[in-house]
Amino acid sequence: MERTLLIIKPDAVAGRHIGDILKMVVDAGFNIKALRMTRLTRDQAARFYAVHEGKPFYEPLQDYMTSGKIVPVALERENAVAKLREVLGATDPAKAAPGTIRALYGSSIERNAAHGSDSVENGLQETAFFFGESEF
Ligand code: ATP
Ligand code: MG
Repeated sequence: MERTLLIIKPDAVAGRHIGDILKMVVDAGFNIKALRMTRLTRDQAARFYAVHEGKPFYEPLQDYMTSGKIVPVALERENAVAKLREVLGATDPAKAAPGTIRALYGSSIERNAAHGSDSVENGLQETAFFFGESEF
């Protein structure tokens, strides 16, 4: 079973879409292995998105990701990383396929409702960022 990290981002939490998004991933065959509601510190957001250091959206992304509560969710299924990105849709909600999480609940390329790990390795690293092995 492959592991991936979903984060329901501050815009989707504030928009009351936690339940809608969890239903979509469960309906897509994922098992929810761990979840919580939390608010990232600036330092945590900087570390989580360190791969984007130097990009023009790095600082605004930290502002946004620390602006409210988020719901990190550890998910498992076969081919979890690719499948979650399919259910999320393209980064820019305007380009996301109809019926995807970002098409339904995202409002801009930054405020795009949810995050999904982008590789099998990052799926393991990012779930470990939020959850201890004993929580699985
Ligand atoms: P995520 O990592 O959140 O699943 P992604 O892998 O589709 O999204 P990345 O390139 O990793 O896209 O970008 C990380 C996040 O940074 C995006 O989800 C979005 O919130 C923000 N972002 C990406 N590109 C831009 C941009 N051009 N302008 C503003 N924000 C952006
Ligand atoms: Mg990414």
